[in-house]
Amino acid sequence: MSPSLARSFPVGRRRLILLLLPLVLLLGLGSPASPADAAPADRTAADRRPVPGAAAATPDRARHDVALRSDADGGHWSGRQRVSFRNASDRPLREVYLRLWGNGEDGCGTPGTPSPVRVSHVRGGVPGRPAVGCTALPLTLPRPLARGQRTSIAFDVSLTVPDRNARFGREGAFRFLGNALPVLAVHDATGWHLDPYVRVGESFHALAGDFHVRLDHPSALKVPATGETRTRPGGPGRTVTTSVGQRVRDFAWAAGPFHTAEETTPAGVRVRSFWAPGTPAEGVRLNRAYGVASIDRFGREFGRYPYGEIDLVMTPGFGGGMEYRGLVLLGTGEEGSAVVHEVAHQWWYGIVGNDEYAAPWLDESFAQYAGFRFLGEDMRDCWSDEDWVYWPSDSTTLTRSMAYFSQHRDESLRHLHGRAVRPVRPGTGPRHGHHGTAPAAVRPGPLVRRLHHRRLQEGRPVHDGPGPRSLLGGPPDPLTRGVSAPAG
Ligand SMILES: [Zn+2]
Repeated sequence: MSPSLARSFPVGRRRLILLLLPLVLLLGLGSPASPADAAPADRTAADRRPVPGAAAATPDRARHDVALRSDADGGHWSGRQRVSFRNASDRPLREVYLRLWGNGEDGCGTPGTPSPVRVSHVRGGVPGRPAVGCTALPLTLPRPLARGQRTSIAFDVSLTVPDRNARFGREGAFRFLGNALPVLAVHDATGWHLDPYVRVGESFHALAGDFHVRLDHPSALKVPATGETRTRPGGPGRTVTTSVGQRVRDFAWAAGPFHTAEETTPAGVRVRSFWAPGTPAEGVRLNRAYGVASIDRFGREFGRYPYGEIDLVMTPGFGGGMEYRGLVLLGTGEEGSAVVHEVAHQWWYGIVGNDEYAAPWLDESFAQYAGFRFLGEDMRDCWSDEDWVYWPSDSTTLTRSMAYFSQHRDESLRHLHGRAVRPVRPGTGPRHGHHGTAPAAVRPGPLVRRLHHRRLQEGRPVHDGPGPRSLLGGPPDPLTRGVSAPAG
């Protein structure tokens, strides 16, 4: 990921994480802090004792049927969501939780300003008090669900896109609906996963499920979305975009008057590009080229891309990048974006999932590693170079949860600001928080240092974003030839 939060984090820097990992373990720096050292808030599902008679992760095999209608500019969506699911565990399922991650930043709202995500008219369960800053809504089932049984809940959902440039937010006429649609919390041997939202990085942990989503919107709005999409005429002046995402962990979309282009990779994956006017054409061209190349490359290395389609959503002001299944949000400059990293997340978190709150290093490290491989970066000597890597404190361990990293974010950023951040030309600095691929925290926030410093010393191209060209350290390579610069 690399949401807009880490405003300050130049992208390329958290790339060392993966390579550092084995070293960290070898050196013993990765040994977990003693329980006495861990702040209470840092105790997460990963630290809890498994429940005797460990239960399988549940509810599973969820199917979401969703129909939403937008207002004129895509800033508000409302409709109905039905979720059916199965109890996979031995333990009778008495309740489920909806995660309303879209309330993460705004919480429960105020009398005049309600939460961005609201659920009402629930059927199939009795709602309790919203919890965890209104990001979790408990629903008591009418009767305990035995192992293997299915049931369903349904509710009205209202989504108001917040007025900030963020993964659930807006940039000019463009709307981003990442983590906006309610999903089911996970219960496993450690209990319910009800971790709080974090601004930098991800708290998300969801089992794979199917989404059948119907989005009714003005025809002037283009709507990239998770899954394989189709459009058809709706009412007067309106279009209905339907999307089916199978075996995905969440469902994201965007809306706005995007320019669009489409290509199919040699391996047969449909790559749709959506960019806001004002996005540098060269960056769009690079994103498209590297998107196509990386999805096929990772498909060969890690297993076929299973979602059929991926949508690249590009705007000039979005901070960094953010991955969703089949859709990535990419803050895009002249040098491109973190597209390779975000595409890698399709495998690392998307296909191979983990608890992003308890173990953020897992998906990030593998995504970084995949990106290094793709870009041909050789990081073998990074640890020996003091100028590259620093460790903020003895209690900082790579395997800490997001609770730790979100609490120590300033520590990481201070170092980066003070020493590592070095904009090389206007617009490429920490300006919009183009930290590209990772939340300051996890990501090598603490670990990473100046990948670019060496480049400066060597007189090689440098910038503060993870643009593919700069990562390759040279002019556009043959890979990007043949992709024409899009207009506008
Ligand atoms: Zn990432």
